[in-house]
Amino acid sequence: MQKSSNSKQITAESPVIMARGISKIRAGQLEALGVLTCGDLVKMYPRTYEDRSNVRRICELAPGMKVTVKARVLTFTTNRYRKNLTVTVLKVSDGTGFLNVTFFNRDYVTKQLRTNGESYYFYGEIESDFRGRDIIMKSPVIAPVGSASAEGFTGILPVYRLTKDLTQTVLRKAVKGLLDDLPPFEDYLPKQIIGKYGLCPYDFAIRKIHFPGNEREHDIARKRLAFDELLFLQLMIRGMRNSLDSKKSTGIVFPSENNTDRLLASLPFTLSDAQKKVWNEIKADMEKPQIMNRLILGDVGSGKTVLAELAMVKAISAGYQALFMAPTEILAAQHAKNIDKLFSKLGIKTVLLTGSLTAAERREALSSIASGEAQCVVGTHALIQKNVEYKNVGIVITDEQHRFGVHQRASLAANGKNPDILIMSATPIPRTLALSLYGDMDVSYVDVLPKGRLPVKTYKADESMRTRVYTWAAKLASQGNQVYIVHPLISSETEDGEALSEAAEAILAGLLSAEENYASASKTFFRGLPTALIHGKMTSAEKDAVMRDFTSGKTKILFSTTVIEVGVDVAGANLIIIENAERFGLAQLHQLRGRVGRSSSQAFCVLMSDNRSTLVSERLDTMCKTANGFEIAEKDLALRGPGDFFGTAQHGLPQLQIANLYEDIPLLKSARDAANEILSSGSEKVMREFGKMSERINGTY
Ligand code: ADP
Ligand code: MG
Repeated sequence: MQKSSNSKQITAESPVIMARGISKIRAGQLEALGVLTCGDLVKMYPRTYEDRSNVRRICELAPGMKVTVKARVLTFTTNRYRKNLTVTVLKVSDGTGFLNVTFFNRDYVTKQLRTNGESYYFYGEIESDFRGRDIIMKSPVIAPVGSASAEGFTGILPVYRLTKDLTQTVLRKAVKGLLDDLPPFEDYLPKQIIGKYGLCPYDFAIRKIHFPGNEREHDIARKRLAFDELLFLQLMIRGMRNSLDSKKSTGIVFPSENNTDRLLASLPFTLSDAQKKVWNEIKADMEKPQIMNRLILGDVGSGKTVLAELAMVKAISAGYQALFMAPTEILAAQHAKNIDKLFSKLGIKTVLLTGSLTAAERREALSSIASGEAQCVVGTHALIQKNVEYKNVGIVITDEQHRFGVHQRASLAANGKNPDILIMSATPIPRTLALSLYGDMDVSYVDVLPKGRLPVKTYKADESMRTRVYTWAAKLASQGNQVYIVHPLISSETEDGEALSEAAEAILAGLLSAEENYASASKTFFRGLPTALIHGKMTSAEKDAVMRDFTSGKTKILFSTTVIEVGVDVAGANLIIIENAERFGLAQLHQLRGRVGRSSSQAFCVLMSDNRSTLVSERLDTMCKTANGFEIAEKDLALRGPGDFFGTAQHGLPQLQIANLYEDIPLLKSARDAANEILSSGSEKVMREFGKMSERINGTY
């Protein structure tokens, strides 16, 4: 292969523009992904692979197979089904049988096809057609046999995470070129660790992760890279703990006081046993000279907020300020209001600090924060901007911590003198995992819901029951109740290429989008009722406005995507309808369901699905039977296998590139041990690599 003239000088530190095939424009696109150097590019591991090495004859094909077929095109036709949906069908043959190949909204593929006997490779998944009689291949990748694009076609090819403008072909070429041009990658792990945990050399791993010769090579490479990633995660967790511990001066000792008892007496309820247990743990931590670094895990609705309030009152009673940080403006405002109601009775001044204050409000807030007049400060990450000065922070509490970066937490901790830290999360992490993941923290579980809380009544329903379900929803809404209707997608009309065929498939799969359903149901079932739409493509100001109207009760029916998942408390909401429930994981369904049932009145959840697969039924049945988040998390794991549970950013655990926190629990344990070994024996190379890495991820996680 011809090497570019600058291949000699190229190193992992070279700017990515030095890589073959990376123009200035593409370098800019890569930069937007955080890829600055050639090293960064090869460290962008494939999301998955296309294994096109399975070349089969048409007579051997069966539904479910992912194969490459080498065949001639006999005929092609394109039909238009509606304004934005065309279906193109090719009939192809290799002499052993016939196969229909279909494309959605890609009629242009036929432009490059010849029916003159020329052979093509088709790579894709075999399915049975909708009548279940014939087999088809949907939306395959095509290359004319013998053409440049067919070179390497039948190998195992990497599939990268993309931004719109970067294609797989460009990335594959660039990475392949770099792997040829770059000198061998030095291994930074000590030999004894490599040996002890059965790892392959780093150079092998980084090359084979992109272009494995076979599955075994891939597994070996993945294991090494996942190990490294988990090792760095452990080092990072340990580092945070150390940076807290190592400040020689210890934490604040908050003496015992009686304001917290006054707070308890003012509540309309008494603490559940679970809350009492955790409150005692918090109290003990706070009275000790060590810095508290505690994570409270508790299901949605388990009553974590009151624990935060107690801790704040305790800190404030000792003359310190308490900070409470929420992930969104809506939540911050909601908490500030509730907290102020309680705290003003105790003579405590609460101040809200968010990005949407007017200049004058902000000035006033900042000055009372600086003087210490504001004893309790509630806000979003506006709380940790550099220009906010505190008098003396005694405790920092974050709610739904997963929306906050480690970095942000650390920077808050640096304000004031060694404040205690309390983190609250509703992510149902099984205990074994929590121990490894939050090795730097003490973990408390609020594992029982408050008494008198009625579990959300949950039902399955299919399309034939839509009228009944929606009529019931309309009736509840007209009686003053509020309803969420959640959808798996925003709209089925998107403009850009790849997304378009996804959207077309969504139409065919019968997915209901939030926009469509909003447009039609508002005019039919819910005519005359105040409805609104919310989704992630709206600006935060738009979203806040919609949520404000819903929270205040002005809007009765809210059509949404999963943006409503995090902690919003709308006491009047007592029905949630989840459309295409089969599209959501159990953990996500549980989080969504947690949006209702936040008061003592009976709440309902309807899971709409026409999907009859046993897996889906089992999942939905679990939802109908179980209210406990931890049980559901375990069941999710058992049903779906480890892959998906932490798949989404929603749960906010560190976004790992290659390791999977569930699947890799054994590897996580090894990485933990290895981190201990490295920290005690010291390894400059590892720490240097770690330094580079943590710089990169600090901003993101
Ligand atoms: P989460 O753990 O999801 O943050 P919250 O703290 O928001 O839960 O509590 C949910 C609701 O339950 C709130 O309205 C709160 O006032 C109420 N609550 C909390 N503890 C109790 C209790 N022991 N008994 C009755 N209601 C409670
Ligand atoms: Mg909460």
